[in-house]
Amino acid sequence: MLKQLVFKGAAEGPVFLVTGAVHGNEKCGTAAIGRLVMEIESGLVSIGKGTLVCVPVCNPRAYALHKRQAEANLNRVMVRHTSPSLYEHHLANALADIIDGCDVMLDLHSYSSGVRPFLFLDSDTPNHRKYAAALGIPFWITGWDDLYAGAQDLNAGDTMTYAKSAGKLGLLVECGQHEDPAAILHGYHALRRAVAHFGLTAPYDAGDAAKPQVNRLTKIVTKDKAGHFAKTWQHLDPVRKGETVIFYDDGSTLDAPADGVVIMPAPLAEPGSEWIYFGTADA
Ligand SMILES: [Zn+2]
Repeated sequence: MLKQLVFKGAAEGPVFLVTGAVHGNEKCGTAAIGRLVMEIESGLVSIGKGTLVCVPVCNPRAYALHKRQAEANLNRVMVRHTSPSLYEHHLANALADIIDGCDVMLDLHSYSSGVRPFLFLDSDTPNHRKYAAALGIPFWITGWDDLYAGAQDLNAGDTMTYAKSAGKLGLLVECGQHEDPAAILHGYHALRRAVAHFGLTAPYDAGDAAKPQVNRLTKIVTKDKAGHFAKTWQHLDPVRKGETVIFYDDGSTLDAPADGVVIMPAPLAEPGSEWIYFGTADA
Protein backbone atom coordinates (compact mmCIF):
# COMPACT_ATOMS: atom_id res chain seq x y z
CA MET A 1 0.00 0.00 0.00
CA LEU A 2 3.01 2.29 0.54
CA LYS A 3 5.84 2.48 -2.00
CA GLN A 4 9.26 2.00 -0.40
CA LEU A 5 12.71 2.45 -1.89
CA VAL A 6 15.39 0.55 0.00
CA PHE A 7 19.16 1.03 -0.34
CA LYS A 8 21.44 -1.33 1.54
CA GLY A 9 25.07 -0.62 2.29
CA ALA A 10 27.79 -3.29 2.24
CA ALA A 11 28.53 -2.87 5.96
CA GLU A 12 26.20 -3.46 8.90
CA GLY A 13 24.58 -0.36 10.32
CA PRO A 14 21.33 1.24 11.40
CA VAL A 15 18.13 1.10 9.39
CA PHE A 16 17.24 4.72 8.68
CA LEU A 17 13.69 5.57 7.59
CA VAL A 18 12.77 8.85 5.92
CA THR A 19 9.13 9.70 5.25
CA GLY A 20 7.47 12.41 3.17
CA ALA A 21 3.90 13.58 2.53
CA VAL A 22 2.31 12.19 5.68
CA HIS A 23 0.14 15.21 4.89
CA GLY A 24 -0.67 15.12 1.19
CA ASN A 25 -0.15 18.82 0.48
CA GLU A 26 3.33 18.81 2.11
CA LYS A 27 5.43 17.80 -0.86
CA CYS A 28 8.86 19.22 0.03
CA GLY A 29 9.81 15.96 1.77
CA THR A 30 8.84 13.95 -1.29
CA ALA A 31 11.02 16.19 -3.47
CA ALA A 32 13.95 16.12 -1.02
CA ILE A 33 13.79 12.32 -0.83
CA GLY A 34 13.45 12.16 -4.62
CA ARG A 35 16.64 14.13 -5.07
CA LEU A 36 18.58 11.83 -2.77
CA VAL A 37 17.14 8.72 -4.45
CA MET A 38 18.20 10.07 -7.84
CA GLU A 39 21.69 10.81 -6.50
CA ILE A 40 22.04 7.31 -5.05
CA GLU A 41 20.78 5.65 -8.22
CA SER A 42 23.14 7.67 -10.39
CA GLY A 43 26.12 6.96 -8.16
CA LEU A 44 26.59 10.49 -6.82
CA VAL A 45 25.90 9.37 -3.26
CA SER A 46 26.58 5.92 -1.91
CA ILE A 47 25.17 4.14 1.10
CA GLY A 48 28.22 2.50 2.62
CA LYS A 49 26.72 1.25 5.85
CA GLY A 50 23.29 0.34 7.15
CA THR A 51 20.06 0.61 5.21
CA LEU A 52 18.16 3.62 3.94
CA VAL A 53 14.41 3.12 3.65
CA CYS A 54 12.55 5.88 1.78
CA VAL A 55 8.78 6.31 1.80
CA PRO A 56 8.39 9.46 -0.31
CA VAL A 57 4.57 9.55 -0.19
CA CYS A 58 2.93 8.30 3.02
CA ASN A 59 -0.56 9.46 2.05
CA PRO A 60 -0.93 8.74 -1.71
CA ARG A 61 -4.63 9.66 -1.96
CA ALA A 62 -4.20 13.02 -0.20
CA TYR A 63 -1.03 13.67 -2.23
CA ALA A 64 -2.96 13.16 -5.48
CA LEU A 65 -5.67 15.54 -4.23
CA HIS A 66 -3.02 18.01 -2.96
CA LYS A 67 -4.84 18.00 0.38
CA ARG A 68 -3.71 17.55 3.96
CA GLN A 69 -5.75 14.36 4.33
CA ALA A 70 -8.27 12.14 2.56
CA GLU A 71 -10.51 10.91 5.41
CA ALA A 72 -8.53 11.64 8.58
CA ASN A 73 -5.32 13.36 9.64
CA LEU A 74 -2.74 10.56 9.35
CA ASN A 75 -0.53 12.36 11.85
CA ARG A 76 -3.31 12.22 14.47
CA VAL A 77 -4.38 8.59 13.88
CA MET A 78 -0.86 7.09 13.73
CA VAL A 79 -1.58 4.09 15.94
CA ARG A 80 -2.27 0.45 15.09
CA HIS A 81 -5.92 0.01 14.13
CA THR A 82 -7.41 -3.43 14.81
CA SER A 83 -10.53 -2.58 12.83
CA PRO A 84 -9.50 0.14 10.39
CA SER A 85 -12.49 2.03 8.97
CA LEU A 86 -10.91 5.07 7.31
CA TYR A 87 -8.31 5.24 4.53
CA GLU A 88 -5.71 6.75 6.87
CA HIS A 89 -6.24 3.92 9.39
CA HIS A 90 -4.97 1.50 6.73
CA LEU A 91 -2.05 3.82 5.98
CA ALA A 92 -1.24 4.02 9.71
CA ASN A 93 -1.07 0.21 9.92
CA ALA A 94 1.19 0.03 6.86
CA LEU A 95 3.44 2.80 8.18
CA ALA A 96 3.57 1.18 11.63
CA ASP A 97 4.98 -2.00 10.03
CA ILE A 98 7.66 0.07 8.26
CA ILE A 99 8.57 2.05 11.40
CA ASP A 100 8.82 -1.19 13.38
CA GLY A 101 11.54 -2.35 10.97
CA CYS A 102 13.75 0.74 11.39
CA ASP A 103 16.09 2.08 14.07
CA VAL A 104 15.96 5.80 13.30
CA MET A 105 13.31 7.92 11.59
CA LEU A 106 13.13 11.34 9.99
CA ASP A 107 9.68 12.64 9.05
CA LEU A 108 9.62 15.62 6.66
CA HIS A 109 6.69 18.06 6.72
CA SER A 110 5.88 21.68 5.80
CA TYR A 111 3.56 24.26 7.33
CA SER A 112 1.18 27.11 6.42
CA SER A 113 2.63 30.49 7.40
CA GLY A 114 6.30 31.26 7.81
CA VAL A 115 9.64 30.61 6.16
CA ARG A 116 11.89 29.17 8.85
CA PRO A 117 12.57 25.44 9.00
CA PHE A 118 12.22 23.96 12.48
CA LEU A 119 12.10 20.61 14.18
CA PHE A 120 10.07 19.04 16.95
CA LEU A 121 12.13 17.70 19.80
CA ASP A 122 9.23 15.65 21.19
CA SER A 123 11.30 13.37 23.36
CA ASP A 124 13.90 15.51 25.06
CA THR A 125 16.64 12.91 25.63
CA PRO A 126 20.41 13.35 25.13
CA ASN A 127 20.22 11.06 22.06
CA HIS A 128 17.42 13.10 20.51
CA ARG A 129 19.34 16.33 21.20
CA LYS A 130 22.46 14.88 19.55
CA TYR A 131 20.44 13.82 16.53
CA ALA A 132 18.67 17.21 16.39
CA ALA A 133 21.98 19.10 16.62
CA ALA A 134 23.29 17.09 13.66
CA LEU A 135 20.50 18.33 11.39
CA GLY A 136 21.68 21.94 11.36
CA ILE A 137 18.20 23.39 11.94
CA PRO A 138 18.33 26.39 14.26
CA PHE A 139 14.73 26.42 15.55
CA TRP A 140 13.52 23.66 17.86
CA ILE A 141 10.08 23.19 19.41
CA THR A 142 9.65 21.06 22.52
CA GLY A 143 6.65 20.12 24.62
CA TRP A 144 4.46 18.44 21.95
CA ASP A 145 3.99 15.26 24.01
CA ASP A 146 3.16 17.17 27.21
CA LEU A 147 0.68 19.38 25.37
CA TYR A 148 -1.15 16.56 23.64
CA ALA A 149 -1.10 14.30 26.72
CA GLY A 150 -4.02 16.46 27.85
CA ALA A 151 -5.68 16.50 24.41
CA GLN A 152 -6.12 12.84 23.46
CA ASP A 153 -9.31 13.67 21.56
CA LEU A 154 -7.25 15.82 19.16
CA ASN A 155 -4.38 13.39 18.74
CA ALA A 156 -4.67 9.62 19.02
CA GLY A 157 -1.11 9.27 17.76
CA ASP A 158 1.45 10.83 15.44
CA THR A 159 4.55 9.49 13.72
CA MET A 160 6.87 10.52 16.54
CA THR A 161 4.72 9.14 19.37
CA TYR A 162 4.47 5.88 17.41
CA ALA A 163 8.24 5.81 16.82
CA LYS A 164 8.85 6.50 20.51
CA SER A 165 6.41 3.77 21.61
CA ALA A 166 8.24 1.33 19.29
CA GLY A 167 11.58 2.29 20.86
CA LYS A 168 12.87 4.20 17.81
CA LEU A 169 14.79 7.45 17.65
CA GLY A 170 12.75 9.91 15.62
CA LEU A 171 12.58 13.58 14.66
CA LEU A 172 9.99 15.51 12.69
CA VAL A 173 11.20 18.45 10.61
CA GLU A 174 8.95 21.22 9.32
CA CYS A 175 11.03 22.26 6.30
CA GLY A 176 9.26 25.56 5.56
CA GLN A 177 6.11 26.92 3.98
CA HIS A 178 4.13 24.40 1.86
CA GLU A 179 4.74 26.16 -1.46
CA ASP A 180 8.21 27.58 -0.78
CA PRO A 181 10.83 25.92 -3.03
CA ALA A 182 13.42 26.60 -0.28
CA ALA A 183 11.60 24.06 1.91
CA ILE A 184 12.80 21.31 -0.44
CA LEU A 185 16.40 22.39 0.04
CA HIS A 186 16.03 22.62 3.83
CA GLY A 187 14.56 19.12 3.84
CA TYR A 188 17.31 17.79 1.60
CA HIS A 189 20.09 19.26 3.77
CA ALA A 190 18.47 17.86 6.93
CA LEU A 191 18.16 14.42 5.31
CA ARG A 192 21.77 14.40 4.05
CA ARG A 193 23.05 15.52 7.46
CA ALA A 194 20.92 12.90 9.23
CA VAL A 195 22.07 9.93 7.13
CA ALA A 196 25.68 11.12 7.41
CA HIS A 197 25.30 11.50 11.20
CA PHE A 198 24.31 7.85 11.49
CA GLY A 199 27.17 6.77 9.23
CA LEU A 200 25.15 5.63 6.20
CA THR A 201 27.06 8.00 3.92
CA ALA A 202 30.30 9.94 4.01
CA PRO A 203 30.16 13.15 6.11
CA TYR A 204 27.98 15.86 4.62
CA ASP A 205 28.73 19.52 5.17
CA ALA A 206 26.02 22.06 4.49
CA GLY A 207 27.67 24.87 6.41
CA ASP A 208 27.84 25.75 10.09
CA ALA A 209 24.67 25.47 12.13
CA ALA A 210 23.64 28.26 14.48
CA LYS A 211 23.00 27.49 18.14
CA PRO A 212 19.36 26.37 18.32
CA GLN A 213 16.66 28.65 19.60
CA VAL A 214 14.28 26.45 21.60
CA ASN A 215 10.63 27.25 22.26
CA ARG A 216 8.31 25.18 24.40
CA LEU A 217 4.69 24.68 23.31
CA THR A 218 2.35 25.90 26.03
CA LYS A 219 -1.13 26.01 24.47
CA ILE A 220 -3.12 24.65 21.53
CA VAL A 221 -5.94 26.77 20.13
CA THR A 222 -8.44 24.83 18.01
CA LYS A 223 -10.88 26.51 15.68
CA ASP A 224 -13.96 26.09 17.87
CA LYS A 225 -15.85 29.10 16.54
CA ALA A 226 -15.65 31.38 13.53
CA GLY A 227 -13.22 34.27 13.49
CA HIS A 228 -10.02 35.54 11.98
CA PHE A 229 -6.42 36.22 12.94
CA ALA A 230 -5.71 39.74 14.24
CA LYS A 231 -2.85 39.87 11.73
CA THR A 232 -1.22 37.56 9.23
CA TRP A 233 0.71 35.67 11.88
CA GLN A 234 3.90 33.93 10.81
CA HIS A 235 5.46 31.02 12.68
CA LEU A 236 7.61 32.31 15.60
CA ASP A 237 6.22 35.86 15.51
CA PRO A 238 6.65 37.35 19.00
CA VAL A 239 3.55 38.15 21.09
CA ARG A 240 3.07 40.05 24.35
CA LYS A 241 0.89 38.76 27.17
CA GLY A 242 -2.69 39.99 26.58
CA GLU A 243 -2.11 40.86 22.91
CA THR A 244 -5.13 39.97 20.78
CA VAL A 245 -4.31 37.12 18.44
CA ILE A 246 -7.76 36.13 17.16
CA PHE A 247 -10.96 38.14 16.71
CA TYR A 248 -14.05 35.92 16.90
CA ASP A 249 -17.14 36.75 14.89
CA ASP A 250 -19.18 36.90 18.15
CA GLY A 251 -17.12 39.91 19.26
CA SER A 252 -14.88 38.06 21.74
CA THR A 253 -11.10 37.76 21.36
CA LEU A 254 -8.35 35.28 22.07
CA ASP A 255 -5.36 36.92 23.70
CA ALA A 256 -1.80 35.68 24.13
CA PRO A 257 -1.50 33.89 27.50
CA ALA A 258 2.09 35.03 28.08
CA ASP A 259 5.02 36.81 26.47
CA GLY A 260 6.34 34.41 23.85
CA VAL A 261 5.75 33.37 20.25
CA VAL A 262 2.98 32.02 18.06
CA ILE A 263 3.69 28.62 16.58
CA MET A 264 2.39 27.14 13.31
CA PRO A 265 -0.50 29.54 12.66
CA ALA A 266 -2.87 27.88 10.20
CA PRO A 267 -5.29 30.55 8.94
CA LEU A 268 -7.21 28.03 6.81
CA ALA A 269 -7.60 25.40 9.57
CA GLU A 270 -10.74 23.27 9.40
CA PRO A 271 -13.30 23.78 12.20
CA GLY A 272 -12.30 21.74 15.27
CA SER A 273 -8.66 21.34 14.26
CA GLU A 274 -5.50 23.13 15.39
CA TRP A 275 -5.55 26.83 14.44
CA ILE A 276 -2.53 28.27 16.24
CA TYR A 277 -0.24 27.36 19.14
CA PHE A 278 1.55 29.46 21.75
CA GLY A 279 5.05 28.90 23.02
CA THR A 280 7.62 30.44 25.32
CA ALA A 281 11.40 30.51 25.13
CA ASP A 282 12.87 27.41 26.76
CA ALA A 283 15.52 28.04 29.38
ZN1 LIG B 1 2.50 17.96 8.28
